[in-house]
Amino acid sequence: MTTPGMTIGGEAVATSATIGVVNPATGAVFAEAPDCTREQLDTAFTAAAEAFTTWRRDEDARREALRACAKAIVERADDIAPILTAEQGKPLGDAVREVHTGAAWLNYYADLDLPREIIKDDATSLVEVVRRPLGPVAAITPWNFPLTMAFWKIAPALRAGNTVVIKPSPYTPLSTLLIGEILRDVLPAGVVNAVSGGDELGRWMTSHPLARKISFTGSVETGKHVAASAAPDLKRVTLELGGNDAAIVLDDADVSAIAGKIFWSAFANNGQVCAAVKRVYVPEALHDDLVEALAAQARAVKVGEGTAEGVQLGPVNNRPQYERVSGLVADALAGGAKAAAGGSPLTVGEGGGYFFEPTVLAGLSDGARIVDEEQFGPALPVVAYRDLEATVDRVNAGRFGLGGSVWSGDGDRAADVAARLDVGTAWVNTHLSLSPAQPFGGAKWSGIGVENGPWGLYGFTETRVVHRAR
Ligand code: NAD
Repeated sequence: MTTPGMTIGGEAVATSATIGVVNPATGAVFAEAPDCTREQLDTAFTAAAEAFTTWRRDEDARREALRACAKAIVERADDIAPILTAEQGKPLGDAVREVHTGAAWLNYYADLDLPREIIKDDATSLVEVVRRPLGPVAAITPWNFPLTMAFWKIAPALRAGNTVVIKPSPYTPLSTLLIGEILRDVLPAGVVNAVSGGDELGRWMTSHPLARKISFTGSVETGKHVAASAAPDLKRVTLELGGNDAAIVLDDADVSAIAGKIFWSAFANNGQVCAAVKRVYVPEALHDDLVEALAAQARAVKVGEGTAEGVQLGPVNNRPQYERVSGLVADALAGGAKAAAGGSPLTVGEGGGYFFEPTVLAGLSDGARIVDEEQFGPALPVVAYRDLEATVDRVNAGRFGLGGSVWSGDGDRAADVAARLDVGTAWVNTHLSLSPAQPFGGAKWSGIGVENGPWGLYGFTETRVVHRAR
């Protein structure tokens, strides 16, 4: 495999220092990614600022360019996906789908109609609201969906007329760098710059004087640093942060009909999804049946190296996260929880990889760490409840507010309960259903602002009024 490099001002840029990239299926370093210097980051933002002066002018050209980007990445899906699997761990089929998701987002924003907004047009005045691009955007992404998260930022940012400097997670830099290389041939120089490095590089980006907007996806803790870093310069900020989504099952739910849906809403991407189901609340009378149905699903899942045939879940992405998930499960078991399925690390192949059994935990209540905190991995706590009102209050009492779902045979009843959740997305009889047109963001500590749809695009703009007297 040729290791992809950084793209700055339309050129390949080499670095003397590198960071090792680990394959989570083996625990071994398999490639070296560039470690961007501060001077190189300056060059990237300067290139983005220069490109902005032209790029902002022609919206039709931008729409065409987004379509060309979508086509270019789909044509290279078979090159991109194995790199994504090697650095992230996810099954190859999921990696291919992630490339296509990126293309879907690019095409959505290319096609999105943004009608002229005239709020007054009469004998006295013509008043129009226009959305102006901001300038160079600092885009910072996490390791769970490196490409999906990249295109959630790149597509609306470019459509609105901004330029981008993107930095992926140090755990998963290569797929994004390859995207930078592919887009070099499609976009004018400087429109998308892709750099890689450690967390320090993220700090330099958020405090860079040429960055006019920070679009960040990652943990709550880092999100607060990003907000603080943006404040002195009043940079615009969108923060997509962590979640601890609850699935609340009502007493009339059909367990056999919902168990599979709840399971995959919790375990997709090995539980490493910001808005995955991270805890399940179920009436006492349904508890044992639901736990057993979820456990049966967990036992049937094929876990293994992402490149192996038929694998449904890969390893946890990195050692600290693997240790965190192992620690939270051990803490729950030590506190009296029962592992209805899984509960332990898993050896795959020659060992060394960060594999963990899909784990369903019963006998837990609020106050247990794995219920109250974000586990972000393949372990799901199930909590029995008696009082629905008190359960909704307890879920709302936490700091997170990304998503939540309510499950019932009566959709209207479930919707009434869902409407009371303090979350960015309240799902009914589904969870994790997303689309490019549907805004996504978090309440409370789960974020500021939204991505996707026209609302996501507006986050990459400044609102301006043009008021003409007649
Ligand atoms: P993280 O916060 O550790 O890192 C995210 C990115 O920020 C990485 O690129 C990292 O290098 C960079 N970074 C680290 N310190 C920084 C700093 N001080 N300034 C600027 N950048 C810095 O998060 P992670 O562990 O990569 O991702 C997991 C978290 O992301 C989970 O909490 C998950 O819920 C969340 N997430 C949220 C969404 C969402 O849309 N709400 C989506 C995916 C993941």
